[in-house]
Amino acid sequence: MTSLSDALKLVDENRIIELSKQVIEIPSISGNEKEVMEHAVKLLEDMGIHVEVLGSEERPIIYACINPEAEKQIIFNGHLDVVPIAKPDAWTKDPWKPVVEEGMLYGRGSSDMKSSCATMIHLLEILKDMDLPLGVGVHLVPDEERGAQAGSKIVVDKIVAGELRRPDYVVIGEQSNLQVRVAERGMFGYQVKFYGRAAHTAASRVTGINAIAKASKGVLALEHHIDKFHEWIGHPMQSVNIIQAGTVSNQVPAECTITVDRRLIIGETADDVVAEVKADLDKAGEGDPDWKWEIIAPKNEDGSWQYTPANYTSPESELGQAFKKAVKTALGTEPELYVTWAGSTDGRLYRQAGMQTIGFGPIGGGAHGPDEFVYIDSLIKMAKVWVAVVHELAK
Ligand SMILES: [Zn+2]
Repeated sequence: MTSLSDALKLVDENRIIELSKQVIEIPSISGNEKEVMEHAVKLLEDMGIHVEVLGSEERPIIYACINPEAEKQIIFNGHLDVVPIAKPDAWTKDPWKPVVEEGMLYGRGSSDMKSSCATMIHLLEILKDMDLPLGVGVHLVPDEERGAQAGSKIVVDKIVAGELRRPDYVVIGEQSNLQVRVAERGMFGYQVKFYGRAAHTAASRVTGINAIAKASKGVLALEHHIDKFHEWIGHPMQSVNIIQAGTVSNQVPAECTITVDRRLIIGETADDVVAEVKADLDKAGEGDPDWKWEIIAPKNEDGSWQYTPANYTSPESELGQAFKKAVKTALGTEPELYVTWAGSTDGRLYRQAGMQTIGFGPIGGGAHGPDEFVYIDSLIKMAKVWVAVVHELAK
């Protein structure tokens, strides 16, 4: 097997930039990924790598693997769809004409996450002749930005059904600031309905009870930092994101409903959240004889709340340990866990199906916004860590 130091030397900055530009300049807003997928197939095939195309004709999914006979397999998952350009005027660059300036590569998808996908293709390119005792492959998918139903969901369903090889390890290349992402928050969406009493505005201080005023107290009671912490995933998050009330301008509203998005850390359940909300709202309504509210959320057949728990792969798992060693050997720094801003990625689907899955990606900015960019230096570091992870697992 090629030594790690020789393998690391093959990571080619110019090649990564070139491949990244090629995929960025093909617009691929979710639903229109066909052209970029076909280009990625061509890149891989030109390198002599066998490609299997899954998914539909309009929305292809790429599966490619080198050393397919090896006993174990590591898969790199990336999505080639991007979000639309919301405000073209806010861009100082052309989102579809990638440019390099001062160490940054600009363009829609540069950080989220076409450059990572391009680096995955480069990874197979440099590893393909090394005769590694490990299968190394990619799942390049569409539809991540719209929920993955036409992308990674299909891939994982096929794995679960035994129609596609189950990887032993999965790496997600979404931006993680070169930190190791071992967990993603779960989610519990709920509403709180606050009750008042309808009345004419003229009687608002006589018989009326304004549900909007009640909800206002409730919103302030729920909009706070939650003082819980898990070292793999950080704090829980809660945000009141929708408020609905009122019908006509001269009537005191009898009801007001707020919709809350609560993200859970490891160990939290929906019952924990409900108990927390009850404590917050009981406190907010102390001494108020007209304080009346209820929690509304979908329930399972057995009466329990529907929610998605946090998902994780232990840092002590084989893949977790490989990453810890790889960061040290490839970058010479201590590995850190990514806990600051952990939205969800397609990694959740692999974890939920029982596969060791870890996120490790570059540093960038402007994802989903204007002037999206990625630091080229971070792409190179990411590539080196990936090479070192493969090398570690191939031992
Ligand atoms: Zn993404």
